[in-house]
Amino acid sequence: MALELTPLNFPGVEMKRPVIISGPCSAETEQQVMDTAGRLAKKGIKIFRAGIWKPRTKPGGFEGVGTVGLPWMQRVQQELGMLIATEVATPKHVEAALEAGMDILWIGARTVANPFAMQELADSLKGVDIPVLVKNPVNPDLELWIGGLERINGAGITRLGVIHRGFSSYDKRLYRNLPMWHIPIELHRRYPDLPIYCDPSHIGGARELVAPLCQQAMDLGFDGLIIESHCCPDAAWSDAKQQVTPDVLDFILDKLIIRSNTQTTESLEALRRQIDEIDNSLIEQLSKRMRISREIGQFKREHGMAVVQTGRYSEIIDKRGAQGVLCGMSSEFMKTVFEAIHEESVRQQIDVMNKE
Ligand code: PEP
Ligand code: MN
Repeated sequence: MALELTPLNFPGVEMKRPVIISGPCSAETEQQVMDTAGRLAKKGIKIFRAGIWKPRTKPGGFEGVGTVGLPWMQRVQQELGMLIATEVATPKHVEAALEAGMDILWIGARTVANPFAMQELADSLKGVDIPVLVKNPVNPDLELWIGGLERINGAGITRLGVIHRGFSSYDKRLYRNLPMWHIPIELHRRYPDLPIYCDPSHIGGARELVAPLCQQAMDLGFDGLIIESHCCPDAAWSDAKQQVTPDVLDFILDKLIIRSNTQTTESLEALRRQIDEIDNSLIEQLSKRMRISREIGQFKREHGMAVVQTGRYSEIIDKRGAQGVLCGMSSEFMKTVFEAIHEESVRQQIDVMNKE
């Protein structure tokens, strides 16, 4: 379904890539809000974020200060001239945020994963003209993300944008939330007019990862960045490890290399043609590999053998991992690729073994 969009312009903000939204994960005290916002304003940041209501994984954690924090944000708006943004998860939040004169709303990843909650939010936004940023759902489901956008858009919100904040996984390695960049890229391909922001703080979950993730988002053509910052990150009441000071934020932004995302030069086209050719040959090779797998399946069937032989499986994963590292790729990447190849191979073999 097409989305009905109008340009996502923020009054008083130059809409030059990257548009920056920054502020603490949560509003904690009036002083923390004013101190953080004051330092951000001095660095030229125009849009201030702070969570007033925090969706927490387990009960008993800090769930946000609630409505008492709204006047603190109003001070930021009035005294520092910044636009203010917060997360809404229920119609009550929407009502209180609008009442407080919030400039921008965002919908968090846990909420976007729930169509009932999204519909309730959409209903509460009917007839309101406010920019809304929709984060990706926690699970890597592009259709669910789009469904959420359609619901909000269906309520008449046309100043829409999205925030890529990565996807939850059971296995936490480098990232707190896996970026799975192909998902926001596919969303952008389908809706080129929908502005796309990156949230490197929640993807990385660690302050050292903020700068490289910002650069990656810029290299992929994202329109903006929403970055958590705090006057005293280590003392933050939520997401302490991933917040940076306003000074560090300024340093990170200063070092960002912004490349144009519209011009494609001839040499880039030539490189892309090479990539296309290599992809074609990869597909051919993979299909050859699968044909052999089917032959192996036939052999195993005739000899009454099980499909998966764990010794052989570990050998493949280990050997290919080591070979890949020698060729300049990460062992995690090699593992992911070969696990996927092996899974398809097993599927093909099972197919052969169960044939009448
Ligand atoms: C946040 O922005 O502080 C937040 C809770 O994010 P997410 O919904 O992406 O977890
Ligand atoms: Mn946070």
